[in-house]
Amino acid sequence: MQFSALSLSPSVLRALADEGYETPTPIQAQAIRPVQEGRDLLGCAQTGTGKTAAFALPILSRLTSAPVDKSRRGPVLPRVLVLAPTRELAVQIGESFAAYGRHTHLAHTTIYGGVSQMHQERALRRGMDIVVATPGRLMDLMEQKVINLSGIQVLVLDEADRMLDMGFIQPIRRIAAALPSDRQTVMFSATMPREIVRLADSLLRDPVRVSVAPPASAPVRIEQSVYMVPRASKQALLEHLVRPAAVARAIVFTKTKHGADRVCKKLHQAGISADAIHGGRAQNQRRRTLDGFRSGRCRVLVATDVAARGLDVDGITHVFNFDLPIEADGYVHRIGRTGRAGAGGVAISFCDHEERGCLRDIERLIGAPIPAITRLPALPPPTSHPTPHPTPSHAPSRAHASAASSPVRSGSAAFERRGGALTAEAKSRPTSGRAPGRFSKRPATRRSR
Ligand code: AMP
Repeated sequence: MQFSALSLSPSVLRALADEGYETPTPIQAQAIRPVQEGRDLLGCAQTGTGKTAAFALPILSRLTSAPVDKSRRGPVLPRVLVLAPTRELAVQIGESFAAYGRHTHLAHTTIYGGVSQMHQERALRRGMDIVVATPGRLMDLMEQKVINLSGIQVLVLDEADRMLDMGFIQPIRRIAAALPSDRQTVMFSATMPREIVRLADSLLRDPVRVSVAPPASAPVRIEQSVYMVPRASKQALLEHLVRPAAVARAIVFTKTKHGADRVCKKLHQAGISADAIHGGRAQNQRRRTLDGFRSGRCRVLVATDVAARGLDVDGITHVFNFDLPIEADGYVHRIGRTGRAGAGGVAISFCDHEERGCLRDIERLIGAPIPAITRLPALPPPTSHPTPHPTPSHAPSRAHASAASSPVRSGSAAFERRGGALTAEAKSRPTSGRAPGRFSKRPATRRSR
């Protein structure tokens, strides 16, 4: 199927041609028509499947053909509200609306916390057709009566399960209650826990349900392995593993903000270009960090889970779990940062003595053991470490230096992405020969007006 077969408006089709997109991804092929027809929709899809365009394209298309109420005085009221769990995701969605809406007359703005609200207020006063927001700042603006949501015709909830994790379900219910009840509601979630199903039941009316279908192309694999490593040796091991040029673009996950800063500082000291992103950094610093990472100025991004949510950066070759996530499903989200948009990837985890329980939970969740590497390469002795840690019984061997040029060995578990769904497979496969990105192009970022 081609985009031209879907009844999208000419201005949206033109923007798609600019982007070089011809074929809808599976989630787009299922979602565009019903959203265009005004139906409520419940979509089960992860980031990386093209879900943003799955709602942005039909929404832009509908707005361009809808008559504008010329009798109304003052600035236009927002007609579309998109809620996203994090600032980064909100910004990315805003950029997608800018790219896909570049040939329309529609205006959009992005609203999130951590920055002054002055520019956001100013944009709202000018009049915006589309507002992309995180729930916290939106509630602030609603309480201050800075935003008028009485004209909302479409509500989109993106990454609903992440909103649940971040405690946004009550704010979402309050926001939804303040919107016109005859609106259209579209909801996307990567997973469907009971609370999300309940939220969907209360907010959606007779929704069309879509989920990602198996892809037409070859499955994509994420090579996984786990190093059994004492905590005190993790930094040296990381420096050893990220140094090879094959690690072109890597994300390192840590449990805490301080941990992220510490790892980043030590990478710098070791002469490796790295930057950290976490909730403790100002929004403009986070933007700069992300820009540097996207442009390739910085090769390694050290991140906490919250900061990395919704991150859409193409070409991430490696994910390192410096600390294992406490929640097992966080592992799937983390390693899904690589192997996105049709490309393969490598996920390497570090597990110290105290994290073995987390590792067991992860392996239970993905239904396969992650191949363990117990013999470490020769590493310099650990320097100081702020938190004392019991010495584990499995002290690293200094004999095994071969991992230097090949951080992941064949025989590692492969995570297979089928149309956006990740399934684990313990399978032998060399790390070379990564599939080229199927959806590797990022939209240019421009404002639609
Ligand atoms: P998303 O799941 O919305 O984060 O999108 C993942 C990536 O796929 C983004 O970089 C999009 O620009 C890209 N993309 C979305 N739709 C298509 C398409 N139909 N063809 C090629 N790339 C696409």
